[in-house]
Amino acid sequence: MHIKKQTILLLIILFSSKLFSQELKYYGSFEQGSLVIVDGNNIEWAWLDSTKLKVDDKKLLTFGFDAKETENKILKIKHNDGKVTLKKIYLPLRKYRVQRINNTKRQFSKTADSLQQRIKREREIIKKSRAKIGKTDSAFYKSGFMRPIKGGRISSVFGSQRILNGVPKNMHNGLDIAVPRGTPIYAMADGIVRLAGENFYYTGNNILLDHGQGINSFYFHLSKLLVKEGQRIKKGEIIGRVGTTGRSTGPHLHWGVQWYSKRVDPAKILQLRFN
Ligand SMILES: [Zn+2]
Repeated sequence: MHIKKQTILLLIILFSSKLFSQELKYYGSFEQGSLVIVDGNNIEWAWLDSTKLKVDDKKLLTFGFDAKETENKILKIKHNDGKVTLKKIYLPLRKYRVQRINNTKRQFSKTADSLQQRIKREREIIKKSRAKIGKTDSAFYKSGFMRPIKGGRISSVFGSQRILNGVPKNMHNGLDIAVPRGTPIYAMADGIVRLAGENFYYTGNNILLDHGQGINSFYFHLSKLLVKEGQRIKKGEIIGRVGTTGRSTGPHLHWGVQWYSKRVDPAKILQLRFN
């Protein structure tokens, strides 16, 4: 009887310490192009500078730093009991690769005027789809991340600066994986399809997935789209097949990940073992 009482008391202590625990676990690095996930308990609210962060079940939250972000940040997390954790974040600069491409094909370096309208229209569609991302507190990404392609050669890394015929172009905002046409593409995490775009000028057949709390992923140049807008997707589900549609020079998947509009490195999110 005596032992039983002690056991019960111990259980109560363990349970309540869990209940009132203020321990915060950080996953991911504090640097340019990185996604961070914070796991805690009894979180009332969290802010990154002036951005209010979404918190799932008082416990899980995320934020990311753009590839070119240079400003220092302050993370503020308040627990139910009133305790506030303050964390100053200094972002070390990353060195990115420079890729010089000399292409003699004229249509690759200059966009014809007749295409401007089409490109503008497609940009509007993308903007509308992106506006739907990360509206709820739910962390759909909870069950973790996976690589959307099995195997394959990395043909272009995230962050590389392309210089086309001597003219600096946009930074490469994803990871290119070269695999044969038709190779299945898996959703990198649970989520909702926000865009299943057909035959866009730059991105070809393309998919945009919303993984909750601002995390989103995109897949370009597909030969086949296998999902519809608004559809709920599970991690590992086949969403499409690799192709070379849009502005692409051969079959490959351009895989991108962002936190809202902050461009993060897809290769790094695979190292996050938070779940
Ligand atoms: Zn690419």
